[in-house]
Amino acid sequence: MQATLAEFELPLVRPLLTAHGSITVRRGIEVRVGDDACVGRGEAAPLPGFGVETYDEALAALERWADGPEGEPPAEPCAAAAVESALTQLDAEIEGVTLATLLAGEAPTQRRIAVHALVPDLDPEAAAQRAARAAAAGHLAVKLKVAAREPNGGADASVDGQAARIAAVRRALPAGVALRLDANGGWDRSTAVKVLRRVGHLDIEFVEEPTPQAADWAQISRTVGLPVAADEHLRDPASLDRLVEVGAIEVAVLKPAVLGGPHATYDLARRAAMRGVRAVVSSFICGPAGLRIARETAVAVDPHGVHGIGTATLFAEALPEDVVPAGGYLAAPTEASSVAG
Ligand SMILES: [Mg+2]
Repeated sequence: MQATLAEFELPLVRPLLTAHGSITVRRGIEVRVGDDACVGRGEAAPLPGFGVETYDEALAALERWADGPEGEPPAEPCAAAAVESALTQLDAEIEGVTLATLLAGEAPTQRRIAVHALVPDLDPEAAAQRAARAAAAGHLAVKLKVAAREPNGGADASVDGQAARIAAVRRALPAGVALRLDANGGWDRSTAVKVLRRVGHLDIEFVEEPTPQAADWAQISRTVGLPVAADEHLRDPASLDRLVEVGAIEVAVLKPAVLGGPHATYDLARRAAMRGVRAVVSSFICGPAGLRIARETAVAVDPHGVHGIGTATLFAEALPEDVVPAGGYLAAPTEASSVAG
């Protein structure tokens, strides 16, 4: 088996503001394994704020591994996920099935998978307009980044300002389109409660990582009447179990790129489902290889759900058509078409 690495850089159309900071470019390493007949691809593209290795650490780990790819995979989370993703996709190619079929043990009946639209705009009017456009385009859900601050304080970061922005986006969406909030742990408990109390009566599907301390979440959820979702806090089965035991979460946002790849993510989603927690599969603002892995995992985990895998449109350059959402959906490859694209 041959393993090759290719570094890539994908600039975003404009900076993506999150509570972890501003993302302007995604740098990653694509891993390819296989031969002329069958190829599997994965990617490692670490981001700060998720407790993963740095880019240089991922690259060094992958270079060591690629010297003898039959050996132990890297221990670093993003590098490990890249290797596992590439090897699993290669298995699927060799078996002649899609990765989703390999994971779920049966071919999905869905030909497409719904994706939410990401709305990062800080200005309430701009955010509302973008949300309305996403709904008009066919998206069944919108995810609004909250608790982020503009470096020069342009937008109104007060409790009133933040609540007004969320309300403006909800008002811009038709009743059938879900609104998800993602704070990336950017609020303290008091701010989270103050902001969310003002919008708790609106139709909001869930709020992701409201504060950095998961110990706050059960109380926040009860106080404001909104379900909480975990993302950064989910690292492995043990962290899922701890969150479930304390009643902190109703939704698990699962990123194959940081959770060890498609098999580990699929298993974690099943574990969550057995505990009454719904899984939403998400990209890590991935390049094409990572998006394909996330898409296939999403199809296997919940073909009827709305997942966070429509991020190709955040990039300045056009990504391959199969990973770019159209009308709020990504096409799900079937056995007849190639997963590798
Ligand atoms: Mg998140």
